Amino acid sequence: MKNENTPEPVSLPEEMLQRWEERGVGRREFMKFCSTMAATLALPVSFIPKIAEALEADNRPPVIWLEFQSCSGDSEALLRANAPTAAELILDHLSIEYAEVIMAAAGHQAEQAKNEAIEKYKGKYIAVVEGSIPMKDGGVYCTIGGESALNIARKVCGNAAVTIAVGSCATFGNIPAAAPNPTGAVGVRKAVPGATVLNLPGCPLNAENLTAAIVHFITFGKLPAVDGLNRPLFAYGKRIHDNCERRSHFDAGQYAEKFGDPGHRKGYCLYKLGCKGPETFHNCPTVRYNEGVSWPVMAGHGCIGCSEPQFWDAMTPFYRRLPKVPGFGIEATVDKIGIGLAAATAVAFGAHGVISALRKGDESDKVKKEE
Ligand code: SF4
Repeated sequence: MKNENTPEPVSLPEEMLQRWEERGVGRREFMKFCSTMAATLALPVSFIPKIAEALEADNRPPVIWLEFQSCSGDSEALLRANAPTAAELILDHLSIEYAEVIMAAAGHQAEQAKNEAIEKYKGKYIAVVEGSIPMKDGGVYCTIGGESALNIARKVCGNAAVTIAVGSCATFGNIPAAAPNPTGAVGVRKAVPGATVLNLPGCPLNAENLTAAIVHFITFGKLPAVDGLNRPLFAYGKRIHDNCERRSHFDAGQYAEKFGDPGHRKGYCLYKLGCKGPETFHNCPTVRYNEGVSWPVMAGHGCIGCSEPQFWDAMTPFYRRLPKVPGFGIEATVDKIGIGLAAATAVAFGAHGVISALRKGDESDKVKKEE
């Protein structure tokens, strides 16, 4: 018998699927892409046709992609994905007007293309910014075509419909802004206070989240809902710890004590090895990286909190556990920290209580408990 809560199966018009096939995107591929986007954006399946229609329509905005103090890791994250990918699907059908990493033009030609795009698409284009912006000494520490990154960001982001800051450098300054921050590096929101900015931190950016943010903008004509740091809630609304596949081991008091020890090999929780998952908001455990293949904690390395502000200063030392959990010193026992985190999480986010984290640990567990 059909359950009344069971969603109706979603189908897309045959002509639409045929048109995508002619463009080299298989129907299953396209269906899967639209479903993944709806799921990533936490939308019901009934929104799949709306997303498909928006992608089909020829009203996608132009993009100007700026790159400042960065390692190009975010461009790499987007471009190195296997074909055909969500990122490709979107990039193939967006109008990329300027992107230093991939454009054929160079030097004055490239700068001219950028300036022409700003004029032509004023107020209509998406500005994507990768890398931090140095403010010290008039912005002399990063110049392109003789113009400071600060001036370029103000001009490009100031005239954009929206700006998406990709990666932790463009959002919070990241490694260039680490103490003593010799160049006065900041993220886009600080450099261009009047711009409408969506922050997508991560080192590097997760390409799925950028794609989903762009799909949201194309589909609804606006950016998704954000948290207090302007990060979209669909991607940063939950802690890493909330969805981690090692969470049952945390709750059971089963921890790896050293890299390569029996607990580590059994997939136990990496908290004692410095995992910052309990303090970090990101959808890594559900979206993962490299086409959903894996992510650091799945591969055996603790989360380093790269999507939190100033993580290079705030989350180090990476291999010591939770050095800055309020109310707990680094010598606090795991059990005590577990109690504190469970309480804070329950109060602030309504997450399920971590009753089992209050246990002293399973006596049959051979992994040595910390003193
Ligand atoms: S502490 Fe880290 S490894 Fe352990 S459950 Fe939380 S996020 Fe996962």
